[in-house]
Amino acid sequence: MKITDVVCQYEENFLGVDVFKPIFNFKIESSEKALKQKSYRIVISSSNEKLDSADYDIWDTSDVTSSNTTSIEYNGKKLLSCTEYYFKIYSILSNGTKLESETNYFETTFLKRSEMSDPLWIQNKLLDATVPMSVGSYVEGAPCPHFRKVFSIDKSIKRARLYITSLGIYKASINGNVITENVLSPGWTEYDKILHYQTYNITDKLTNGKNAIGVIVADGWYSGCIGLFGRGYYGNTRSLYCKILIEYNDGEKIFVDSDDTWKTSRGAFEYSDIMIGEYYDATKEIVGWDTKDFDDSGWENAKKMSDDYCSNFKGDLKSQVSPPMKVFEILKPLSINKIANGKLIVDFGQNMAGWVKIQIKAKLGTIVSIRHGEVLTDEGFLYTDNLRNAKATDTYKCKGSNQEIFEPSFTFHGFRYAEISGLDYMLDKDDIEGHVVYSSNEWIGHFESDNSMVNKLYQNILWGQRGNFIDVPTDCPQRDERLGWSGDTQVFVKSACYNSHAVNFYKKWITDLVYSQRIDGSYTDVVPYISLLTNNSLTNTSDAGSPAWGDAGVIVPYTIYLMFGDINILKDNYHSMKKFIAFYENDCENYLRGDIGYGDWLSIDDTTPREVASTAFVAYSASLMKTIALTLGYKEDSDCYQNLFCNVKNAFDKEFVNQKTGEIKGDTQTGYLMALKFNLVEGELKNLVVQKLKDRIIRNGYKLSSGFIGVSYLLPMLSEYGLDDIAYTILLQEDFPSWFYSIKNGATTIWERWNSYTVENALSINAYGFADTAMNSFNHYSLGSVSEWFYQYMGGIMPKIECPAFKDFIIKPHLDPQNRIKKSSVEYNSINGLIKSKWETEGNSLKMCFEIPANTTCDVYIPKIDENMEKEKLSLSDNKYLVFKESTKYYFVFSCQSGSYEVSY
Ligand code: BGC
Repeated sequence: MKITDVVCQYEENFLGVDVFKPIFNFKIESSEKALKQKSYRIVISSSNEKLDSADYDIWDTSDVTSSNTTSIEYNGKKLLSCTEYYFKIYSILSNGTKLESETNYFETTFLKRSEMSDPLWIQNKLLDATVPMSVGSYVEGAPCPHFRKVFSIDKSIKRARLYITSLGIYKASINGNVITENVLSPGWTEYDKILHYQTYNITDKLTNGKNAIGVIVADGWYSGCIGLFGRGYYGNTRSLYCKILIEYNDGEKIFVDSDDTWKTSRGAFEYSDIMIGEYYDATKEIVGWDTKDFDDSGWENAKKMSDDYCSNFKGDLKSQVSPPMKVFEILKPLSINKIANGKLIVDFGQNMAGWVKIQIKAKLGTIVSIRHGEVLTDEGFLYTDNLRNAKATDTYKCKGSNQEIFEPSFTFHGFRYAEISGLDYMLDKDDIEGHVVYSSNEWIGHFESDNSMVNKLYQNILWGQRGNFIDVPTDCPQRDERLGWSGDTQVFVKSACYNSHAVNFYKKWITDLVYSQRIDGSYTDVVPYISLLTNNSLTNTSDAGSPAWGDAGVIVPYTIYLMFGDINILKDNYHSMKKFIAFYENDCENYLRGDIGYGDWLSIDDTTPREVASTAFVAYSASLMKTIALTLGYKEDSDCYQNLFCNVKNAFDKEFVNQKTGEIKGDTQTGYLMALKFNLVEGELKNLVVQKLKDRIIRNGYKLSSGFIGVSYLLPMLSEYGLDDIAYTILLQEDFPSWFYSIKNGATTIWERWNSYTVENALSINAYGFADTAMNSFNHYSLGSVSEWFYQYMGGIMPKIECPAFKDFIIKPHLDPQNRIKKSSVEYNSINGLIKSKWETEGNSLKMCFEIPANTTCDVYIPKIDENMEKEKLSLSDNKYLVFKESTKYYFVFSCQSGSYEVSY
């Protein structure tokens, strides 16, 4: 029995708290049955010693009678900036046990913006001026500026921190050693409004006497190419901002700030761009440039960002709470082949986002280049047509030393294959690595079945998430797009929250979404927002307000609340969501919304009329707002949203639903799915709609046809309405279009289109079987939203809206009526503890094992063989804690307390 996972702002020993009221979470871990927490106590002290001697000078909650362990908001003494806090949790359990956590720690950064005004934003104007007017074009930028500063330490230090950010992306070193394990920082935010700084612990990196800091800044998202736009969307110059805190043991605190005494020059990075790639000229390396004794007399003084330029950055500086990007996995090549033109093709066996690291030996001046691609042509060449303007090429000019190692620093690519040219010898597998980069959300879900193709699909979905969690939830990581499309984000958010602890990742994105909200209340189609009209003023409503895309502004916060119980995401964004619904009301005529937006994007021969989708989403968002308002205690608002929902639903039914047959305008899978998911039909009409959905699927040969919108509801709705048989048939379908079809044809991620590659295309058109190069990615997670069904339906682990965060939840597995899948195992490490649900079938017998975490409760649904099955047939591991509730058509329902159980028949 112990207290685990103690976090502040969801982070363990977090250095970046910049709010006055951070939140705390912890878990109770125990295998004891029916265990509850009776009370908890949080104690916080200003030093470890004080905490140890029970001098809780900052906050002592005393015993709070509550079973809650999540989202506990700080309410102690006013927190101070740049200060350390030490804390512990005590918990008293229902069996009388008293638990005490280990000592934990958090640290504040700057709680007031004014405390951040000393450092200057500094630049290397000479370098920036070498690409003056390339805004909007797809060309390389100028060499990356290097900045350095020497500073002295004359007393023994207690701690030192580096607070740093840039307009561009940076890499920092202290005394010659790179200290930034994170990559591509500070990431991509709605730069005009908000920019994150990062905090690094540099205590151990400093020495008494002289020290040097060195920072390289590259274009990144700020001034490099982004989306379809090209260079310099936000600005055309790169700037650095940093503050070093040194706290001496005698209590004195000093700061070293960026200013115009810093020196600047260029180094080996000729250019570096996210879309184009990086050119590193090793012959121009400046040895020791970031060490204290380096002679920088030839370097310029950095220039402060000029006032006119400042008008480009009026934003807020906030501490980064979203997970940093890092290299999390390293892949070795599966194969290396020399192709006809003498180049090498490296296959990593996995489509991914990141870069290649190589170790080479070549003559001075040899130019080695690495191109990246997701697929090969039939001849075995790299296929890059689908990357559009993204050159995705890294180049290295050798200095001619014995062994040279190259990996890019300021770019990333989406690829499975790399083409290496310029070497006159064959590389060995040990010379090459694929570095996989993504935002570090802890993986908290696990799914496995006895079907290897289903397992592969699940793995492909996880890889799709890895590849598209690059600070922003993107559509794809390879072509000149890589944008935070809001439609893609909302269809995948539930899956992502089962797969990973994505709460801070999405909170960051929601902040950007709210910042980019248009004056009319609409949310933009991509977040951070970029508009091809180059006018990103809030009155520009192009590329905003699209049905199923803008709704992300309600769906994502709602999902985060449901999965992690973080009410602040609802509170903080409520006003914005209200504006969004008001926009919807204004945009409707007689509660119907028009023929606008992207529709059920990339469906297959099954086009849902756009007015059907756009109206359905108004109703859906209104119904979610009804619940959100109620959760926040706004009863009146909640009633208004319920009214709005009813009005839109009635209009929808009247306009689009044939009351006699249940046919919905367009007769598409997605039309029926939305009506069911969003509760747009009731009573007998609902039964007719279910029948219509079934007919539509059967007419389609038991195959799916829905696009981005419909696919996330497809299996869930079939299971909800008693059609598990069809759900499993669609899942296991191997013919086009299906998930398995892509796997049979080599997919290692989720494709953008059902027909990103088809055998039929390969036979009939001359494009190697690939879909239209104008838009064809092999790493788009949207169609992978099916993974939420694995957790919620196959494994049956489902949250309850009235009790979010899995404090009280449901386990209700949906078995395959045809026994094609006989085993499923799902684990979900919820914010309230680890939940397990496993089942195995053999003919008419079932074995089900499940685990309910301490301090939670659950309704367990045990599937029946048939409607008439007697409850007495069940053999239960522990009757005492499994209290029978009811028998439904398909299930025996028990209410259950914490512990592990086994049920069989
Ligand atoms: C993106 C999508 C996005 C869509 C909207 C595409 O270019 O890749 O994933 O949702 O446009 O139409």
